[in-house]
Amino acid sequence: MTIGLSAVGALPGELRELRLRVRAFLEAEVARGAFRPAADAWMSGVDIGFSQRLAERGWVGMTIPKQYGGPGRSALERYVVTEELLAAGAPVGAHWIADRQMAPSILRNGTEEQKRAYLPKIATAEALFSIGMSEPDSGSDLASVRTRARLTAEGWRLSGTKLWTSIAHIATAMIILARTDDPVGADGQPSRHAGLSQFIVDLPNPGIRISPVITIDGAHHFNEVVFDDALIPESALLGKRGDGWRQVTAELGNERSGPERILSTMPVLAAWASGRSRGEAARDDLGRLAARAAVLRQLSAAVAGELDRGGNPAMHAALVKDLGTRFESEVAEVVSAHVGVGSEPLGPGPLQALVGQAILHVPVFTLRGGTTEVLRGIVAKDLVLSSRTGAPRGQARDERTEIAEAVRGVLRTAPGSWKDVAGLGFTALTVPEELGGSGGDLRDAAVVVAEAARHSVPLPVAEANFLAGPLLAAAGIELPDGILTGTAGTVTADRAGRLAGTVRDVPWLRDADYLVTLAETPEGPAVALVPVTAPGLSVTPGANLAGEHRDTAVLDGVAPAHLARPRVPAAGRGPETRDWAATAELLGAAARAVQIGGAAQAVLDRSVKHAGERMQFGRTLDKFQAVQQLLARLAADATTVSVAADAAVLALAEQAPGAELLVAAAKAEASALALEIARTGHQVHGAIGYTAEHPLGEHTKRLWSWRQEFGNELYWRRRIAGLIDEASGQLWPLLTNTVSSPGGSTA
Ligand SMILES: Cc1cc2nc3c(=O)[nH]c(=O)nc-3n(C[C@H](O)[C@H](O)[C@H](O)COP(=O)(O)OP(=O)(O)OC[C@H]3O[C@@H](n4cnc5c(N)ncnc54)[C@H](O)[C@@H]3O)c2cc1C
Repeated sequence: MTIGLSAVGALPGELRELRLRVRAFLEAEVARGAFRPAADAWMSGVDIGFSQRLAERGWVGMTIPKQYGGPGRSALERYVVTEELLAAGAPVGAHWIADRQMAPSILRNGTEEQKRAYLPKIATAEALFSIGMSEPDSGSDLASVRTRARLTAEGWRLSGTKLWTSIAHIATAMIILARTDDPVGADGQPSRHAGLSQFIVDLPNPGIRISPVITIDGAHHFNEVVFDDALIPESALLGKRGDGWRQVTAELGNERSGPERILSTMPVLAAWASGRSRGEAARDDLGRLAARAAVLRQLSAAVAGELDRGGNPAMHAALVKDLGTRFESEVAEVVSAHVGVGSEPLGPGPLQALVGQAILHVPVFTLRGGTTEVLRGIVAKDLVLSSRTGAPRGQARDERTEIAEAVRGVLRTAPGSWKDVAGLGFTALTVPEELGGSGGDLRDAAVVVAEAARHSVPLPVAEANFLAGPLLAAAGIELPDGILTGTAGTVTADRAGRLAGTVRDVPWLRDADYLVTLAETPEGPAVALVPVTAPGLSVTPGANLAGEHRDTAVLDGVAPAHLARPRVPAAGRGPETRDWAATAELLGAAARAVQIGGAAQAVLDRSVKHAGERMQFGRTLDKFQAVQQLLARLAADATTVSVAADAAVLALAEQAPGAELLVAAAKAEASALALEIARTGHQVHGAIGYTAEHPLGEHTKRLWSWRQEFGNELYWRRRIAGLIDEASGQLWPLLTNTVSSPGGSTA
């Protein structure tokens, strides 16, 4: 069972222009006082005029095809526009539901008549929708809805009450879920999910009464909507009669994974980041939150990619919402700890007022759209089911799936054999064919490294592919025969090319035939290929917490087999750089993030299996809600690490300008989550997992070790705080790779 989601990395450059155009429009709107940036503005900010100004620019209902009056733009373009609107705290609440949910739903399930009636008006922000799912006695248990729809000669008659209905008081239409038929499935068996249908109800309607319900911040946002035998036309049925449950759950994929589940409090974080003079604790917190934001953006975009490919990643969408909404709350809570809260007009300042507004919204993040606990239940059930049936999950098959399967095949039979892994070309994926390598790229290498980590392979597969390979390739040095290890350390070379210096913690040095290291020569940095048995090289054995060999090499006048200056490598083969020490550090950090992802996957697999087999109180552990919540948490953390590492590797492979931030974010998050994953894995396993012979410890000891290697979370969070400083506090532009120079131009 593998959690497969592919990162999208830095979004394609052509979207940059669109992003900047939207940003410029929003800045102009703020400058002329059209809106003030607010937290959670997709809920709290309702301004029909603003929605219509966006629509005039083609930024509402963007994916609606031209034949239905829409701009016919791509899902990725919509994603970029949406991100900008949210990050700016713009008042998009009026058209939000129509744009996010109704347009895709009508396109998928609507009749031609419905498409022609609603879609053009969604694109002009004239059709404003609300959602009628929840009822007084139906919250999390949505299938228990009692609102009934009865087909009569005049049309459908609706009776019942919907509650918490956002913006019903300004909406021109409402989508509702109602019971049309008995709860009996096609097989004649009772089924609560059968007999439900969806309707589009135009508003106002004489049989429908809408009354405000005021929220704790004093706002009129949601409503009670009473249907008193309300008449709607027969043509108001959306999709198939009785198919409402399937339609609604498909819609929830769109509702749960979007950037609004991450960015509701981005205006708060961005405003805080733009301030000056921060103490050390604040810098660490800022680095932590920025790392999380960078990673969650990748996760949300990865699910959007799955949706776009026509998949139904319901489990991943639930997982993104759980992670994203916890992050949104954390932003408000952490920033408030540093700056305090206030309320307008009494102060103490605009940042405090913004934070105060965000704090008042914290409770809703983890409730609306499905509560955290219920979402974790969905994730856990999916995990348990696919573990029992062995069903693959996530992304479609591609060549990386094939590489993973080939590696797994080798590792099953010979986990400790370099010869077997090298025989498949999997130890030299980042070395071009003309230098004797396999001519793959870092992303292929990452698949191998993750699998090796998942199987606790005691070989320098990560170092060979992520450090030795790219450095040899850059310097044009031919791949030698034998076990290869690499380091991000540097030694010095004299004019005769003799090496001197110490490199510590070299993985598997005593087991290797060659060491690849950077050397500072009088002419500048070079790459050295050093036989481990070369005279003058002494090896002092060491080990990390997991017992993996981490040896120290002392070089005293060592003659390398090769010493060559690195050239800028060909596109796609590795990072384009002249600062090789910094690049080697990034490569090492990315490798460890990938390895943490592999080990996390192993802990998840073992935990799900254990919970499915271990009996307590007469039931298997996975039947207990508390254990399900642990498994779901584990899945969320493991997926976060995998996607973060994938994004970092992709950015390095593509030589993307934002690679440093993505690597820093990936390692910061991977290191922090390594602790969580180890803790949760042990909690699920109980005492048995703490024994020397149980394989869980092999993974968790590696997690604890890899967390520290190439910089732990504290180190990388501080690096990210430094990047924010370098960007003059422009956090959102930094995250989206659009930092503008002091003169105003965008670099
Ligand atoms: C600001 C806001 C806007 C909203 N807008 C809309 C809207 O436009 N349209 C709409 O239809 N609805 C809307 N809702 C309603 C929202 O979808 C529900 O609040 C949500 O589904 C939870 O239902 P509930 O409030 O009845 O809580 P309950 O379901 O009663 O849950 C209360 C607590 O019990 C827990 N719980 C419940 N069942 C389980 C279980 N099986 N296992 C573990 N824990 C469980 C929950 O996690 C929660 O912590 C909105 C809510 C808010 C806060």
